[in-house]
Amino acid sequence: MADRLAGVPLAPYTTLRTGGPARAFTQAQTQDELVAAVAEADREREPVLVLGGGSNLVVSDDGFDGLVVRVATRGVDVAVEDGRALVIVQAGEDWDALVARCVAEGWSGVECLSGVPGLVGSTPIQNVGAYGQDVSQTVAAVRVYDRVTGEVGDLTAAECGFAYRDSAFKHDPGRHVVLAVTYALERSPLSGPVAYRELAARLGVEIGARVPLADAREAVLELRRGKGMVLDPDDPDTRSAGSFFTNPVLGPEEAAALALRAPGHPRWDLPDGTVKVPAAWLIENAGFPKGYEKGRARISTKHTLALTNPSGEAGAAELLALAREVRDGVHEKFGVWLVNEPVLVGASL
Ligand SMILES: Cc1cc2nc3c(=O)[nH]c(=O)nc-3n(C[C@H](O)[C@H](O)[C@H](O)COP(=O)(O)OP(=O)(O)OC[C@H]3O[C@@H](n4cnc5c(N)ncnc54)[C@H](O)[C@@H]3O)c2cc1C
Repeated sequence: MADRLAGVPLAPYTTLRTGGPARAFTQAQTQDELVAAVAEADREREPVLVLGGGSNLVVSDDGFDGLVVRVATRGVDVAVEDGRALVIVQAGEDWDALVARCVAEGWSGVECLSGVPGLVGSTPIQNVGAYGQDVSQTVAAVRVYDRVTGEVGDLTAAECGFAYRDSAFKHDPGRHVVLAVTYALERSPLSGPVAYRELAARLGVEIGARVPLADAREAVLELRRGKGMVLDPDDPDTRSAGSFFTNPVLGPEEAAALALRAPGHPRWDLPDGTVKVPAAWLIENAGFPKGYEKGRARISTKHTLALTNPSGEAGAAELLALAREVRDGVHEKFGVWLVNEPVLVGASL
């Protein structure tokens, strides 16, 4: 059993640099340690926070009154078949290092997810996505520890219930601990069809074209760096949890109401009749420009959707005060409620 430490401050374990101490903290180096740590805490009825790279978390200034289990399991196994590679990855592997390897090996399907921070085990939780790809397109199975049944088993992609930045895991929070993820990747030197306009423009190709994997990765990383979306200790705009709000998806009535308030607003009409609206546009047009500050919290100077802690000294309370002001301002102007993307621990909006 791994050691338990008391009173470990959580801020250094999150990219937003907020969070008071954990009552208890342990690191799991193997699947068995991970399962045992969570199972024992559950037996003792002790609250558990499973911690990956801390890049999608806002932890309260009061910290976490329970056990934080940091996932530090490692290992990548590969089974190569005719046209595809099945890549089985332990939850504690670094996501972007895995993407870099896939690109180098000629395994296609995750290259547009280059530069997303965090660990592999978190990718199914919110169906990590960017630049026209998300992991629902490649996840074949997820090995989980089910805290309700006490069993270890495999979920199929269908059982994961993937949707835009969403999954069955988010609807039953804390029930499953992800132990490993299997990605089914095409063996090809070419990227998946480029599906995102800005990326196609950067690559100088049409939507739907396929480009060398390394070109796709480089173009995505360049675009992301320009928005402060690649972690960089020298760039205070990257002290964030990524996009703080998801793009709202409106039903027909809500969409019609918004069209009256904001004629001609940008929108993506989805096949099921719903309308996705860029949250960044709503925020900017509600009067919150890039660089907008409240106390020591700031909207990124490069990307309206990211709320940042540029000095590293703002608390979660300050970040959330800014988030509330933005959310309420957007609602007042456009009648649309923005929903936070990061997981709030011990806090609410
Ligand atoms: C600069 C920046 C850019 C970003 N860009 C993107 C982007 O383009 N697209 C995108 O989708 N996201 C993006 N994000 C958000 C974030 O990187 C992803 O959500 C990432 O998958 C979170 O991984 P993590 O390991 O850091 O998770 P954490 O923040 O540690 O945890 C997130 C949640 O998952 C749970 N969790 C973690 N590991 C496990 C596990 N093994 N089993 C069960 N539950 C677990 C945690 O308890 C928590 O609820 C960005 C974040 C930052 C800081």
